[in-house]
Amino acid sequence: MDGRNCKRRIDLQKIILSESIKKILMNHAENENPNESCALLYGNGKIVSEVFLTKNIEESPVNFTISNEQLIEGYKIAEEKKLPVIGIFHSHPNSEAYPSSTDKKFMHSNPVVWIIYSGVNKNFKAYVLESDVVEISIQD
Ligand SMILES: [Zn+2]
Repeated sequence: MDGRNCKRRIDLQKIILSESIKKILMNHAENENPNESCALLYGNGKIVSEVFLTKNIEESPVNFTISNEQLIEGYKIAEEKKLPVIGIFHSHPNSEAYPSSTDKKFMHSNPVVWIIYSGVNKNFKAYVLESDVVEISIQD
């Protein structure tokens, strides 16, 4: 096994998401209904400390895309705040908080923690990509 690959692996068993951050994300999801909502999550290690709410330019209830402009802006803010982007959030207005096949595809190119909110049962779930997509626990 190549040492560099080892290092690249996301070594996270859980992510810390405070009630206040959950509330911000939940409100964002409700505001964007019936479409999926999305956001970048900033933090240190496993603690999400700030969010950057983004627009779903697909305006779709089953997919989301963040514009390149907002991605650049989001990563610039991360640099300024010295808080890396540790996660990507999006909502599933009409389905469970489980990654779709499109989500899984994009998890390969964006290997951070993926947090999904289900509008159906108001649940948050978090996933990382190892050899396959695995769920990790969320604590507040
Ligand atoms: Zn999804």
